[in-house]
Amino acid sequence: MSARRQDFPLLAATPGLHYLDSAATSQKPRVVLDAMRDYYERDNANPHRGAYDLSARATERYHAARERVARFVGVADADCLIFTRGTTEALNLVATAWGPANVGPGDEIVVTGLEHHANFVPWQQLALARGARFVVCPLTADHHVDLDAMRRLVGPRTRLVAFSHVSNALGTMNDVRTLAEIAHGVGALAVCDGAQAVPHLRVGFDGLGVDFYAFSGHKMCGPMGIGGLIGRRATLEAMSPYQFGGDMIEFVRDDHSTWNVLPHKFEAGTPNVGDAVGLAAACDYLDAIGMDAVLAHEQGLVRLATERLAGIEGLRVYGPPANQRSGVVSFTVSDIHPHDLATVLDQDGVCIRAGHHCAQPLMRRLGVSATARASFYVYSDEGDVDALVRSIERAKVLFGPAAVG
Ligand code: PLP
Repeated sequence: MSARRQDFPLLAATPGLHYLDSAATSQKPRVVLDAMRDYYERDNANPHRGAYDLSARATERYHAARERVARFVGVADADCLIFTRGTTEALNLVATAWGPANVGPGDEIVVTGLEHHANFVPWQQLALARGARFVVCPLTADHHVDLDAMRRLVGPRTRLVAFSHVSNALGTMNDVRTLAEIAHGVGALAVCDGAQAVPHLRVGFDGLGVDFYAFSGHKMCGPMGIGGLIGRRATLEAMSPYQFGGDMIEFVRDDHSTWNVLPHKFEAGTPNVGDAVGLAAACDYLDAIGMDAVLAHEQGLVRLATERLAGIEGLRVYGPPANQRSGVVSFTVSDIHPHDLATVLDQDGVCIRAGHHCAQPLMRRLGVSATARASFYVYSDEGDVDALVRSIERAKVLFGPAAVG
């Protein structure tokens, strides 16, 4: 058993559990739970508002958490990191606050065929609402974004290009810098969905070249309910707020209001201090391992898993080779429906995800309605791969003729 498993109370308490659904959400290390408990036990108050010391301490914890998370994602100007509920809210923030003012009839929004619905539907709906054209860039045969097609598809009317850093369904790592260059070459903004990248790679927002970058804390050892949007200062300052209320205002008159500075302009209402503190502790935890080591560990397990899975008759793995993907392996086994497979695996304590992975446009392009997906993280080990392979073999026996390749 991986020694790191002991850092995670849920995993330490259930030795027979093989948690292979970290792309959906990661388990939480004790240090994150402790940090949140410590905040609530010692420093909890509503920040920014109180004249008393306890509120000042809560404000300081929130501020320190933002600085810490900003350092982790590589943005020097921490005020350009807006805390959101996660990736979905971050992308919707851009679609709502930037979209209507900048996209009009006849304009174009380009996304890729790899996207999670969170980086597809907001842009599709923005295009529909504004009378713009919504364009989906095709994929290459090995499930990468087709960069040549992207160069052909963008043009002078393209206002925004949205793409993921890493695909949740296949683990494909996209060439973010090139995609951003293509967008900027036609004067469009580049929006990157980093939900599956920040937990696994050193991202370095300031060197990536994109205009917006979104991520979720719960996939990177942090709590559910917090994530972030990073943007360029000039772009964020030019945008109007998308939610109104406390904290985000400067002055409120009877007939008009003015807005607070970044990041507060986009954080209306009482902020999520406890989860921000937990997310900062998650950054400490991952940095102590080292993000290069995190990725190398996952890619080692993906390599092992794909080699072992290749030996199972009728099993098909989707996506690029192990060294070009993060810790995700998507597959189908003969005619066994992925949901049925996941149910059998669950009986063996193996947790995988089955379905369309919130990526129906991608599933259509793959010609399947669903896949099974095993995803690895810092606490996964070779025993998890063994259990996965053993359990799939058992499912094949159970399903008999349906499992004949
Ligand atoms: N984008 C990708 C690539 C994802 O994998 C996910 C979650 O699975 C999301 C967006 C949405 O993240 P959240 O549900 O945390 O907002």
